[in-house]
Amino acid sequence: MASRGVASYRTEVWSDWCPGCGDFGILAAMQKAFAELNLDPAQTVVVSGIGCSSKTPHFINVNGVHTIHGRGIAFATGIKLANPQLKVIVNGGDGDLLGIGVAHFVALGRRNLDVTVLIHNNQVYGLTKGQASPTLRRGEKVKSLPVPNLQDAVNPIALAIASGYTFVARAYSLWVDHLKEILKAAINHKGSAVIDVLQPCVTYNDIYTAEFYKDRLYKLEDDPSWDPIVRDPSEDEEKKAAAIKKAEEWGTRIPVGVFYVNPLKDTYEERLAQRNPSYSIDNPPALQPISREDGSPIVGPDEFRKLFKRFIVNVKKL
Ligand code: SF4
Repeated sequence: MASRGVASYRTEVWSDWCPGCGDFGILAAMQKAFAELNLDPAQTVVVSGIGCSSKTPHFINVNGVHTIHGRGIAFATGIKLANPQLKVIVNGGDGDLLGIGVAHFVALGRRNLDVTVLIHNNQVYGLTKGQASPTLRRGEKVKSLPVPNLQDAVNPIALAIASGYTFVARAYSLWVDHLKEILKAAINHKGSAVIDVLQPCVTYNDIYTAEFYKDRLYKLEDDPSWDPIVRDPSEDEEKKAAAIKKAEEWGTRIPVGVFYVNPLKDTYEERLAQRNPSYSIDNPPALQPISREDGSPIVGPDEFRKLFKRFIVNVKKL
């Protein structure tokens, strides 16, 4: 297959993100990663919810679905189950994925469905004028808040590991090439992958700015003793605990990189195919013909009754 250049993943759609927004770095990293992986646009789907970050599918030239608030993962789950051969990537903000969408976020980890999630984490709801999101810490007052935040923050890395994600990482939107490499590894990973991407919101967040991150971020991989990969099931608990402990570090030093990888766990689609003989990863529902050459439906009323016989309730017997 001929390789595609980065430019082929760009669209003509004008972006209305604020100049300097971290979303631009995430978009650039995605386009570069897609090009280096030579992803087929017809076999790749970018799904989003609602928020500044959720405009991403408009700007990247693959299949895109811009859905409703907090439901990007729910749509992605349906897409992946209908055709597990697709590469499915979800973009959402910290509010979208960890506020209204948090139940879907947890459910994806529990399933270990082979989907990659990018959290655009800027600690505020940028699209609706900078309210505190679930990742803003208690007592912090960004310039859009009249009073300091009353709630504790959720730690996306700890939540992802507790939920069952098998690839968990953090990146920084202005380190585009570093994010690109992590994204490539996440897409190639078989199972649920999440990248918590720290990104400045230049309009509403005057605490977590590029200046704030400049001297604090460090790369986990620079420590030769850091090894996040589970190579034997007996190592799993220890690697999870080490990753969560590392994720709690937030202050003068903030780690980015890969926190935890477990390539040993089976995926939801594999378990489903084992359980249900009519579900096949090689011949998934979305690729099965629904009509004959003459246009008549393959499954008529009789076949439908046979297929769902055990679910049909005879109301007269009740
Ligand atoms: Fe980016 Fe914040 Fe502007 Fe939204 S409001 S586009 S997150 S800088």
